[in-house]
Amino acid sequence: MEVVREDIIIIGGGMAGLRAAIAAAEHNSTLSVALVSKLYPLRSHSVAAEGGTGAVLDPKDSYDLHAFDTVKGSDYLADQDAVEKFVRIVPEQIYTTDHWGCPWSRNADGMISQRDFGGMSFPRATFAADKTGFHVMQTLFSRCQKYDRIHFYNEFFVTSLIVDGGSFNALTAIHMKTGELTVFQGKSLIFAAGGAGRLYKFSTYSHSVTGDGDAIAFRAGLPLKDMEFVQFHPTGMIPSGILITEAARSEGGYLVNGEGKRFMQNYAPTRLEKAPRDIVSRAMMWEIEAGRGVKGKYGDVVYINLDLRHIADLLEERLPMITDIAKKFNDIDAATEMIPVRPATHYTMGGISVGINTETEIGGIFGAGENVAISIHGANRLGSNSTNECLAFGNVAGIMAADWASSHSIPALNLEKVKSEERNIWDNLLKREGGENPWDIADNLQEMMDSYVGVFRTEQGLLSALKGIRDIEARYKNISISDKSSKFNIDLTHAIEIGFMIDLADTIIRGAINRKESRGSHFRKDFPERDDVNFLKHTVARFSADGTRFEYTPVVITKWKPAPRVY
Ligand SMILES: Cc1cc2nc3c(=O)[nH]c(=O)nc-3n(C[C@H](O)[C@H](O)[C@H](O)COP(=O)(O)OP(=O)(O)OC[C@H]3O[C@@H](n4cnc5c(N)ncnc54)[C@H](O)[C@@H]3O)c2cc1C
Repeated sequence: MEVVREDIIIIGGGMAGLRAAIAAAEHNSTLSVALVSKLYPLRSHSVAAEGGTGAVLDPKDSYDLHAFDTVKGSDYLADQDAVEKFVRIVPEQIYTTDHWGCPWSRNADGMISQRDFGGMSFPRATFAADKTGFHVMQTLFSRCQKYDRIHFYNEFFVTSLIVDGGSFNALTAIHMKTGELTVFQGKSLIFAAGGAGRLYKFSTYSHSVTGDGDAIAFRAGLPLKDMEFVQFHPTGMIPSGILITEAARSEGGYLVNGEGKRFMQNYAPTRLEKAPRDIVSRAMMWEIEAGRGVKGKYGDVVYINLDLRHIADLLEERLPMITDIAKKFNDIDAATEMIPVRPATHYTMGGISVGINTETEIGGIFGAGENVAISIHGANRLGSNSTNECLAFGNVAGIMAADWASSHSIPALNLEKVKSEERNIWDNLLKREGGENPWDIADNLQEMMDSYVGVFRTEQGLLSALKGIRDIEARYKNISISDKSSKFNIDLTHAIEIGFMIDLADTIIRGAINRKESRGSHFRKDFPERDDVNFLKHTVARFSADGTRFEYTPVVITKWKPAPRVY
């Protein structure tokens, strides 16, 4: 067992993790940073971000407008103090990454271009064609190379967080290359391990996005907030789920039903296809349920068409990647044919509960990006409001962790807990011979989440899901991992991921059962209205040996009282 000691430890090499690493290194030139990632950083999901990064750059736009759009988009569940801070700290991140070489798309006059996005009342999404994540990630990764105190630990799979006496003690990780357990100790820690989009089968997410950070923190005692809010993006391409960016609609694309008609005027008469994602996804599902979906060459799957034919002249410059994706994966020429789409799981609004300075309940542990709920997205995130969150709060987390590290020391290692985790992995999990195939369990879990915990939810469906998760949990106790080797054992790490996914699915399902109202992405057919009297509050889930405990905390309201949400 190897023990690595660095001043600051970051889990995750996505946009939030890389931004935090740079901030920490810049903020204090004496500290070392360990960036621990199960993937090479440039394989993180952030690289797949397509459409844009919202920021107030135009003098005609304002912080209050961006904040109000975000609060209304969240169906009033966002904490407004966090939102007000967020909109103010985002613009400098656009200019900073610009100075570091990010090729933001520009207007003829040389100014950074901005495009419209769902639920935004001003076109404020900056973008680099439809490859925004790719370019921002390249920029951040290159910038990291400037600091020889940022040390990359690539392909280290973190399995647990050890908390001792109420403080951060260590992380345990499997070094994929050697199969050895490695312990990381630091003075401070940042969670930036991304979301949990792969809890579902029809998802825009990379297969690596399995909620590890949420589950690791939860098991160690950190509460998760608002997990029942899972975003469904209207335009996941059939049958793969690959994302067709919202920018396709903000550039003018239409949604068309099986009768060849646009339908958004019936659901969001002002914003039409540019309404927030929860509203557009529901509209598509209502059309499909009413028998007005499209049936075609994709088996039994009923879908909606995305029509870009009338904006064919824009595709090459503004939407090159999705044009390419439609061609490569579906042999569709977007200039002359429509693209088949359906709502696909796209974002986890919930996550580790952190305060507006990214601090968790445990001193010295911080968090940023999709791994956490600050909470600026509440019940529904607006498009283009995540990459900017990763940049802005990644920066805050890096500074906070550096400040903590400069006045604290590395604690004595709790070897007993490390040994116990070692036994868990090698003796308990790897040697288990129950006969259940973990990959089948993951398939069943994802299919169940798609069926019962999707765009529309009901008490009956959610109770079926709860029963389903108990069965899956029991089967998980009887898995057999067929590959018994130690090096690059993806069977083993996937089995650990499935354990994480089961814990998170349980918090999502139970949070959804308890929330007897409809708000943002959480739509209960049996409680179709928002209920501010009983449910204008955050769900906080805490791990306990006798099962998860649910608590509720108030929403911070500064300027914007809850109002009907129409677009
Ligand atoms: C297809 C797609 C397009 C999108 N487009 C946009 C957009 O245009 N605009 C926008 O604002 N948002 C967009 N989003 C959302 C946005 O990209 C993500 O929310 C954001 O990039 C998440 O960044 P992150 O740093 O939090 O996590 P990620 O980029 O997911 O990175 C997570 C990191 O954690 C590491 N990790 C995870 N588990 C472990 C473990 N057990 N051990 C060690 N390391 C671990 C991974 O290796 C990875 O490096 C899009 C999302 C998708 C899926």
